[in-house]
Amino acid sequence: MTEATYELVPLDCPTCGAAVAAEGEDVVYYCTACRNGYSFDEERKQLESVEVAFALAPNVAVESYLPFWLLPAKVTIQDRKASGGGFSGLMSLFLGDGGEKGLGPGEGTFVVPAFHCSLASLTALTRAYTAHSLNLGERLGERLVGGRYAPGDARKLAHYALIASEVGKPDTLQRLEYGIEFGEARLLGVPFSRDEKGRLRDSLLGAALLEPEQPTRR
Ligand SMILES: [Zn+2]
Repeated sequence: MTEATYELVPLDCPTCGAAVAAEGEDVVYYCTACRNGYSFDEERKQLESVEVAFALAPNVAVESYLPFWLLPAKVTIQDRKASGGGFSGLMSLFLGDGGEKGLGPGEGTFVVPAFHCSLASLTALTRAYTAHSLNLGERLGERLVGGRYAPGDARKLAHYALIASEVGKPDTLQRLEYGIEFGEARLLGVPFSRDEKGRLRDSLLGAALLEPEQPTRR
């Protein structure tokens, strides 16, 4: 764990020099001016370019775009022992519902929030958006807010969401050994809109309602 710093650092886009909206703990940024995305690399201590796409949302209300990671993944089952049924959660998206050992690899793309919210919301959003086929569009000149989770964090959340989606009936799944091979992470803007109480909900699927964050004093 590194020491938390609470400075608001004014960030300039490394490509075009425009000011980039960022908050203290953000590690993911999008420049509205030149439409480039960046992720702060902890080890190299510098901004790395990332590919960016936006989820197309015709006819839905958009208050702002929140950042997600698109994580291409190959999932392989090494061993599985269960008392009944096949997979019912995200595993079935990647592998089908057979669930025999030695299955796979099955390919797909995890869609994981890059912004901070409750674990319940993170899991619900990951499950809903990974299961949904999104229409991806060009980079928009819209504000895509920064995010606190780097691709490494998103990969951990993908593992968590995958398992959480399969253990709804824990007695049926007794043993599961699996592997995920991740491809290169891309940033995704997903439209959110605000309700009358100021809470944000994802506009496309309505999978989670986010409580407004308390303004942080720095
Ligand atoms: Zn720029």
